[in-house]
Amino acid sequence: MTGPLEAISPRDPAHGALPVTAMSSDRVAGFSRWLTKRPIGEKTVGIVVRSLSKKYGTFQAVKDVSFEVPTGQLVALLGPSGSGKSTILRIIAGLERAENGVVELTGEDATAIPTQNRGVGFVFQHFALFRHMTVRDNIAFGLKVRKLPKTEIKARVDELLELVQLSGYAHRYPTQLSGGQRQRVALARALAPRPKVLLLDEPFGALDAKVRDELRTWLRRLHDEVHVTSLFVTHDQQEAFEVADQVIVLNYGRVEQMGPPQELYENPRSAFVTEFLGSVNVLKGRLDSGGTVVAAGLPEPAVHLQGPGENGPVSIYVRPHDVELTHHRNGAPTWEGRISRITPLGGFVRVEVVLPDRTDVRVQITRDRFNELELNTGEPIFLVPKDLKVFFENEPNSYVI
Ligand code: ADP
Ligand code: MG
Repeated sequence: MTGPLEAISPRDPAHGALPVTAMSSDRVAGFSRWLTKRPIGEKTVGIVVRSLSKKYGTFQAVKDVSFEVPTGQLVALLGPSGSGKSTILRIIAGLERAENGVVELTGEDATAIPTQNRGVGFVFQHFALFRHMTVRDNIAFGLKVRKLPKTEIKARVDELLELVQLSGYAHRYPTQLSGGQRQRVALARALAPRPKVLLLDEPFGALDAKVRDELRTWLRRLHDEVHVTSLFVTHDQQEAFEVADQVIVLNYGRVEQMGPPQELYENPRSAFVTEFLGSVNVLKGRLDSGGTVVAAGLPEPAVHLQGPGENGPVSIYVRPHDVELTHHRNGAPTWEGRISRITPLGGFVRVEVVLPDRTDVRVQITRDRFNELELNTGEPIFLVPKDLKVFFENEPNSYVI
């Protein structure tokens, strides 16, 4: 799980760190209107994708995908590599054609509109700045193409430079910037022509972990200021959770589930989503016809269902922080095991427990709880699972509990 957003301390911009400045609400509203020119109170959906399908040769890369990005939201398209994220983004931008389906941008059918007239801003993973142009000229590029008056271009670029916190960098060339700064220029360039929607394809994917982390926080704050409808592609669950209002999980070209991050985390509707959204233990088990789920090799039932129903082999999922450890059975369904390894991780401690059937279960408890329990490797211990997700093994999309 992701923690709360961490504050970035203001540091010297010359060293590539991100000074965070607060904007007054007047200025925020000004930026917001300036970027989107959206009449106040207008209610259209920023992006609508309906029944999108795309084949490459005989390979079906996108399968009947439908979703909506509400106006002003930042939505993440999350999935493993090859799940069709970039293809969907490229179709929305008009860079790729779908065999089937409709794309609507701010209420207009854009399916047949050429890319340059769709009003989309695009930021790619790999820095796509013009190397021979300064930061200022890069940002101004789309405005010059549109033949805006020079004074207007200058004013707009100045505002954007301030927005992406690169005011002192206008005359530098891309090679004189850090990777994170280049991506901020790319973002300013994409925002310059006031796009209706902003599409970001793994924009921080090529940066190192620390810079990526800072940029996520920065992007989230920037989005809170400008509210441009944005679709953000990533394969990184934590990144999606940190930046997005809502997350769409893709797998093999299909939408597995969508919703606010916490809702997906708490109520995953498939084995794939459960596994993809964070570290989880998987135990083999059975659902018997009496409605009881039992983990293989363990005497205790894991959970009782309300009544008899389907039965068969199941996979039982339990997250490391959803298991309590105790020295004594306490009446709740409890599994007995032996501690095989203890790993302190700052404020938490990871305790690995081996069950009688040799299944390893990872448990994460707070440092305080660890000290209270006085645990030692090799000792017997009881596990009390607090929250389980159970799926039929042969139908991983059919949720048992
Ligand atoms: P993602 O961005 O989620 O990693 P992509 O949308 O790039 O996935 O690709 C989805 C699938 O389509 C992958 O299996 C990829 O190999 C395939 N694919 C993407 N672009 C092409 C192409 N131009 N020609 C053939 N196959 C492609
Ligand atoms: Mg991709």
